[in-house]
Amino acid sequence: MILRILKYGDPVLRKKGARIEFITLEIERLIADMLETMRAARGVGLAAHQVGHALQLAVLDVTGVTDRPSTLEIEGQPAALESFMPVVLINPEITPIGEYAKAPEGCLSFPEIYTDISRPESVEVQAQNGHGEKFSFRAGGLLARAVQHEVDHLNGILFIDRMEMATRRELKAELEALQAETKANLQVKR
Ligand code: ZN
Repeated sequence: MILRILKYGDPVLRKKGARIEFITLEIERLIADMLETMRAARGVGLAAHQVGHALQLAVLDVTGVTDRPSTLEIEGQPAALESFMPVVLINPEITPIGEYAKAPEGCLSFPEIYTDISRPESVEVQAQNGHGEKFSFRAGGLLARAVQHEVDHLNGILFIDRMEMATRRELKAELEALQAETKANLQVKR
């Protein structure tokens, strides 16, 4: 089932996600729906917060992006991205490594807003998969950026928090309009 994606201004996006202790049927269904929703929206990642659940759960798939490379290492060995994707991250913990790199970023909760964000270019990831099994990998390039963006969501952090002040000032009116629209829609629903 394709789920509705919450937009900036929805309070759920600012919550800290709760840890997932058991992979219940509800969680399994949520993962399947999130994968379907991410594909339908042509996103490279989606956090549970974005579909209304403040949980430590995100899904990613960067294989559709050909112009921005990703690297993947498992147990110190380069690994094939295609067989690793889509990837489900439950209770992820990340250690950023390497220099900061600036690259354009967008978010399904911020339609049509794209801007350069500076982030460490690689990341060490430890998480549980959709079956609750622990796994780890090292990511670089777009995958590293996407993982950091999604893990931020799980902690209530949005990419606009990491924008440069000048960019944020430029986008101020646009962001305020989006926030106001979301809040107005929330009121209608209540
Ligand atoms: Zn996002």
